[in-house]
Amino acid sequence: MPHDTSNRFSATTPIYYVNAKPHLGHAYTTIVADAVARWHRLLGEDVHLLTGTDEHGLKIQQAADAEGISPKQFADKIAPLFEQAWQRLDITNDDFIRTTEARHRVGVQKLLQACYDAGDIELDVYRGQYCVACEAYFVEEELVNGNCPIHQRPTTYVEEENYFFRLSRFEQRLLDWYAKHPDAIKPSHRMNEVIGFIKTGLNDFSVSRKSLTWGIPLPWDDKHVAYVWFDALANYITAHGYGSNDEQFSSRWPVDYHFIGKDIIRFHCVYWPAMLMSAGIEPPKGWAVGGWLLVGGEKMSKTTGNVVNPLDLIDEIGVDGFRYYVLAETPYGNDGDFTYEGLTQRYNSDLANNLGNLAARVATVVEKKCGGIGPKPNPSSPLAKIASEAVAATTAAWAEVQPSRALDATWSLIRATNSHLEQNEPWKMEPGAAVDEVMGDALEALRIVTILANPALPNTTQEIWSRIGLTGNVIDLRIPRDVAWGGYPGGTKVVKGDPLFPRR
Ligand SMILES: [Zn+2]
Repeated sequence: MPHDTSNRFSATTPIYYVNAKPHLGHAYTTIVADAVARWHRLLGEDVHLLTGTDEHGLKIQQAADAEGISPKQFADKIAPLFEQAWQRLDITNDDFIRTTEARHRVGVQKLLQACYDAGDIELDVYRGQYCVACEAYFVEEELVNGNCPIHQRPTTYVEEENYFFRLSRFEQRLLDWYAKHPDAIKPSHRMNEVIGFIKTGLNDFSVSRKSLTWGIPLPWDDKHVAYVWFDALANYITAHGYGSNDEQFSSRWPVDYHFIGKDIIRFHCVYWPAMLMSAGIEPPKGWAVGGWLLVGGEKMSKTTGNVVNPLDLIDEIGVDGFRYYVLAETPYGNDGDFTYEGLTQRYNSDLANNLGNLAARVATVVEKKCGGIGPKPNPSSPLAKIASEAVAATTAAWAEVQPSRALDATWSLIRATNSHLEQNEPWKMEPGAAVDEVMGDALEALRIVTILANPALPNTTQEIWSRIGLTGNVIDLRIPRDVAWGGYPGGTKVVKGDPLFPRR
């Protein structure tokens, strides 16, 4: 039975390799995916957000050996660190898949078998250069002075019997598919990169290892285990029930977006759709490709200047402060450079001085001039048009997976409302109709802002909502219904409270 997918929105983050603890790069992609998912929930869509951990492979085996424990024990120590980090960052993932789960194993084996039955996986001998750290083969032209281009370390010559996926057969099929789906990759310049890569000609890639035991055995030859791509990429379908719950799978696949970093674009936008085509599965609807969030050397930390742990930044600047920085600072798709100064500056300018200041001054004036009771907005307020433009621009930018532009559009309403207050100076007026009109409009603008900014600032927007006397949860509101001008009921108690964003 065909399923109605028009009201669904489904997104994935990469699954993170458990050879490292959660760091800023992991947090970056995950926060962006979460904010986009939260936006789509506000649109009233049936949203599913998937994340998880990648737990097989040589590096995990080696790390476990070094600690004298089993690879599964090693993975069991690290995977919860990711789950805990995402809880602390208010990531609203609906599922967390670990590649050591049974549902993943059966799905990977089903996918491998489907590609094998299609004739696209064949036994061959691999000869070439291999980087252990990458777990990847390189052709001679890719090496830099004989070293791995990523790790700048010597690669090793390897000759072994592998099963290969015949990626070389998929050039035209991939080009045809992308021609029919020209907006599948965001931002669009990444699409050009993918098409260019396909046109240079595609090489078959190895899908198995005989030398490794920490992995999923091939269903037709258990002397081999699945190697990296068929194991890791498959999480996107196994989590949705491929191989374990086919009815659920058909109702949830294809997903709307794989959120990925630019370094894994080839595997996600070339290998993965080809693997799916071979198995008779539709490729995902889209990919949202982010740049790298670089770390500006030791300037980052006041103390050690080492690896950026996102949880330390939460202690410094709050969950919402950190989320906002990640979303607002760098246009998604470009590289960003993380610095501690940049974090503080962004926090002070946008949160403390703009949103925090607006909330505080509205509450102060309402308390002094309106008896602490919020007045109704004016239907023909000059802010009404600005609000509706901000809603439209915010909506368009989230649809393009551009959180920085979306937040800038939302902040245009905050800036306009602060200017409106400065022009009218209600704090100098006597209590009465004139001050009520200005403050009713400011409250209404603030109400709309709390809804629009909720995907970035889930905690503080809820706090503002309560302080301006409104009940219920912001996440239960709906766009566009609840962001139309005139929704603030008036007559509710407004409280000031502690500063939402104390200056740093
Ligand atoms: Zn390498």
